[in-house]
Amino acid sequence: MTEVTGITHSNSAKPRLRFAPSPTGYLHVGGARTALFNWLYARHFGGTLILRIEDTDFERSTDEMVDGILQGLAWLGIDWDEGPFFQSKRMDLYKAAGERLLASGHGYYCFCAKEELEQRRAVAQAEGRTPKYDGTCRRLSREEREKRRTEGAAGAIRFAVPETGVTAFQDAVFGRVEFANTELEDFVLLRSDGVPTYHLSVVTDDIEMKMTHILRGADHISNTPKQVLLYEALGAALPVFAHVPLILGADKTRLSKRHGATSVMAYRDEGIVPEAFRNFLALLGWTPKDSSKEVLSDRELVQQFGLDGISHSNAVFDRPKLDWFNTEYIRAYPAERLIPLIEEEWKKAGVTPLQREPGWLARTVDLLKTRARNLKDFADAFRAFFSDDFEADPAAVTKFLSEASIREILVELGSRYATSIEEFSEQGTEKILRDLAAENGVKAGALINGARVALTGQAVAPSLFAVMMALGKDRVVGRLKRC
Ligand code: GLU
Repeated sequence: MTEVTGITHSNSAKPRLRFAPSPTGYLHVGGARTALFNWLYARHFGGTLILRIEDTDFERSTDEMVDGILQGLAWLGIDWDEGPFFQSKRMDLYKAAGERLLASGHGYYCFCAKEELEQRRAVAQAEGRTPKYDGTCRRLSREEREKRRTEGAAGAIRFAVPETGVTAFQDAVFGRVEFANTELEDFVLLRSDGVPTYHLSVVTDDIEMKMTHILRGADHISNTPKQVLLYEALGAALPVFAHVPLILGADKTRLSKRHGATSVMAYRDEGIVPEAFRNFLALLGWTPKDSSKEVLSDRELVQQFGLDGISHSNAVFDRPKLDWFNTEYIRAYPAERLIPLIEEEWKKAGVTPLQREPGWLARTVDLLKTRARNLKDFADAFRAFFSDDFEADPAAVTKFLSEASIREILVELGSRYATSIEEFSEQGTEKILRDLAAENGVKAGALINGARVALTGQAVAPSLFAVMMALGKDRVVGRLKRC
């Protein structure tokens, strides 16, 4: 009976963790959350985080995806201490491990052809049995095996799973997890072309890189018993396994493209502040001990993170919640933190910002940030604050500027501001507007709404007179006169 339980690493040693993405796709939300949890755990305990690129699927792995993953991690502010290591450069190690397992009797050569295996699988499925390797080559005598080898038959190396008993492990999140060995098939370690399968490469590296904790998605639970058997066969101590619950979409099915963007970089492109995304991700499946506060700085996240806060139940990706975090971060950040992010948005939208007096930009960002839904607003809805090259929202024009009489009064308002000897202040500009409205027998509100559209191109903006201060006298006069 194979019975491996217990957490074998001493708690005093500094933990070593890894994030091990396969570069067959971009960095998606689930992967980013795994990376973040590993990072938080390593940073909390002053441990080491390793980045390992699992690129042994040569057909599907691309350099472009590697770059994409690195970019995603950089955007999220996740750094690592060792690596990136590429499994494609470590093939000799896996081959040696496969051969060791062969020599120790834990592995055996399998000469079954692909077509044969597929056929047997189909039969099993048709008969309602779980398709698994039937052990044909496990039963070959040593002579037969030698004979096939000397005849030059290309063989894969399979792991000989114990035929009875259970394989169990203690999961830091899910508790004891147990699989009957009869449920596990004699999985392939090295394919006949010498390429290792995931189980062999991952365990070889996790042992060689001295990983103490394997923190990864719960979709890997079913892989774990096979890996536990490999640790045992290779004579290595088990790391702590911690599987984190899956992330579901709002409809409670596993998060996928159907639910919208799954690539982390798509959120950057939507104008999400990276720290807001990180905060949101951290709370997908983890709850801090002090759950009274949701907006948590990096420091607080690192301080509070622990495996005991990881939930058993699946997490739901709540998009409105992400947007809420985003507005909270934009509102709370000082202008200096936001300006570099806003500059990126301007670059993307082709906005050349005005060159104005010192302090103007920060003041304007501070004025607008409480109304921003995302960073992109600074390049579109708020564009008129930063550039003279903007277009008015046609619906706002129709609603508030379609009457010629109002437009004429606004042109007059521009002239009054130009010639007024009063200081160009919030009170001063308001008084002139209200006096002009009274003289013309129109409601001040009609002028205020019209002026807002003329000045900002939008129907909604901060208080009109604050807007005037942000734009400055010359721009206010110019834009009103253009009505
Ligand atoms: N490369 C695997 C993946 O991207 C990770 C394997 C693991 O964490 O053990 O799913």
